[in-house]
Amino acid sequence: MIDSHCHLAAPDFAQDLDEVIERARQAGVTKIITISDAMGDIEPSRLIAEKYEHIFYSVGVHPHHAKEFDFARDLPILRASTAHPKCKAIGEIGLDYHYMNSPRDTQQRVFESQLRLAKELDLPAVVHCRDAVEDLWTIVKHVQPKKLVIHCCTEKWQDIERFVKAGYLLSFTGIVTYKKSEDVCETVRQCSLTQLMVETDAPFLAPEPYRGRRCEPTHVMDNAEKIAEVKGVSLEEVERVTTENAEKFFDLHSSYFLCLPDKESNKESAPPPRAIP
Ligand SMILES: [Zn+2]
Ligand SMILES: [Zn+2]
Repeated sequence: MIDSHCHLAAPDFAQDLDEVIERARQAGVTKIITISDAMGDIEPSRLIAEKYEHIFYSVGVHPHHAKEFDFARDLPILRASTAHPKCKAIGEIGLDYHYMNSPRDTQQRVFESQLRLAKELDLPAVVHCRDAVEDLWTIVKHVQPKKLVIHCCTEKWQDIERFVKAGYLLSFTGIVTYKKSEDVCETVRQCSLTQLMVETDAPFLAPEPYRGRRCEPTHVMDNAEKIAEVKGVSLEEVERVTTENAEKFFDLHSSYFLCLPDKESNKESAPPPRAIP
């Protein structure tokens, strides 16, 4: 089983990350993608991925932090960071009109520029969407990235179906285990297992009966179990198919361990920075 989205660089894990990762491994979590939210996450995420062979990472700026995004400074840093062999995606990026921590038009510009970067670099985009599905679709349709996942999907099927029809993936968290999650469960039911991934979004969104506590990657097993129940298939099938989906989506088969760079050679191998309009 792969936890396709969590935040291991979060301060919540600073005291006991080794134990958290070991617990997950013993529960059957074979690989983990740790996701960046802000420019400050890039370095700690890289260090975690370099320490643990089965952990990979992404780089990107969350819509909450869009107002801090400096296009001239940050886009070249993001571009250079992706040269690392364990950096497997751009994310999380997207739109969040629920909290509206950054102005709407700023969120849109920051999302679109990072989505274009993902497309240009041929990397998957890990996308956050809250109360913003129409604007998000407009931008996605316009940019047409090759690979995209709507993470922590809570959308009604009628709103999100077009993403699945376009070949994109949906990823589900512990929200599927909550009471009043009937709409999300219907989306799980409708989405083909071949376009579905499972995540924890740890340290957030612990599944029932752990709701309210710190979430850990080990809980991806609980989320997968609920998804199996909702879809009426075995846990083994959910595990097999979603693992293959995540391997393909994040390109985890490649032999990263042969070419782990040190800091200096990483800098040299990074493509030259180029401004994006
Ligand atoms: Zn998110
Ligand atoms: Zn997240």
